[in-house]
Amino acid sequence: MTFKIVVCIKQVPDTTDIRWTEHNTIQRDGLDSVINPYDIGAINLANYIKSLNREVQIIVVTMGPFQAQDALREALAMGCDEAYLLSDKKFSGADTLATAYTLSQFIKNIVPDFKLVICGQQAVDGDTAQTPSSLAEKLGIAQATNITELINLSNDCVILKKETQFCSQEIKLPLPSLVACSCNNIEINPDINSYIRSQKSRIKILNAEELSVSEDNIGLKGSPTQVKKAYRPVITRTTELLEEASSETYADFILSEINKCKADNG
Ligand code: FAD
Repeated sequence: MTFKIVVCIKQVPDTTDIRWTEHNTIQRDGLDSVINPYDIGAINLANYIKSLNREVQIIVVTMGPFQAQDALREALAMGCDEAYLLSDKKFSGADTLATAYTLSQFIKNIVPDFKLVICGQQAVDGDTAQTPSSLAEKLGIAQATNITELINLSNDCVILKKETQFCSQEIKLPLPSLVACSCNNIEINPDINSYIRSQKSRIKILNAEELSVSEDNIGLKGSPTQVKKAYRPVITRTTELLEEASSETYADFILSEINKCKADNG
């Protein structure tokens, strides 16, 4: 039986090029959009599973505007087999709860026989890291977050490596389950043929009606959280760089800074 993996990706502004409006919102006009870096890690994990001699199908999905098709085409070039865009004016303004609900309706209706859902750990624009856990809850399946590696996979369970602030853990999950992947430093460079194939592939676009969603649970209406303001924190600390100094100079500098702190704190 085909082992079906659903990979959830989000298209985000390219964070190396972020600008802010005078109202402290993200200036999206003229900004490049990219696949959320953690989601590339998710695609990579799915590709790794595919490489384990299994009959694997990778279904990639995103909820967003029509331009998010670009992200899906890139994901197809990177090795995903089928792509779905959940797009409807009614989905706009969704917070993490409404996003998770919409994604869960997609999975329940279109891929009910999935084995694994793989998400990125967090999106670099919203950055809440809430969507994967909410999605697992709505699907009624087990979940593991901050996953960096797959250790073993069988037909009914998966063993994964999880990084916490203090240690690494091995987590065993029954299948089906959800994994949130925190490896964001992986680049996938598809070859030209994969790109050409992906440009010719059909992306299936689904609206609210086709997902049998309850309109009270989607978009702005289904979102208890609303972002009133986003701003850059003002960083007041200063940095002094000591270049190519001797160990004695470093030590003297540190000592004088400690003494200054002591004097400042009375
Ligand atoms: P995260 O939960 O960080 O994303 C984790 C993973 O979930 C992603 O890597 C991806 O795999 C998957 N995923 C996320 N979104 C999608 C999608 N549209 N399609 C497919 N997969 C997806 N919403 C809140 O509820 N609470 C907040 O505090 C909040 N703060 C925000 C702050 C800012 C600056 C912005 C721009 C948005 C904020 N939002 C918030 C809205 C939030 O961005 C959206 O709800 C978004 O759809 C999902 O949340 P996220 O971006 O935090 O994703």
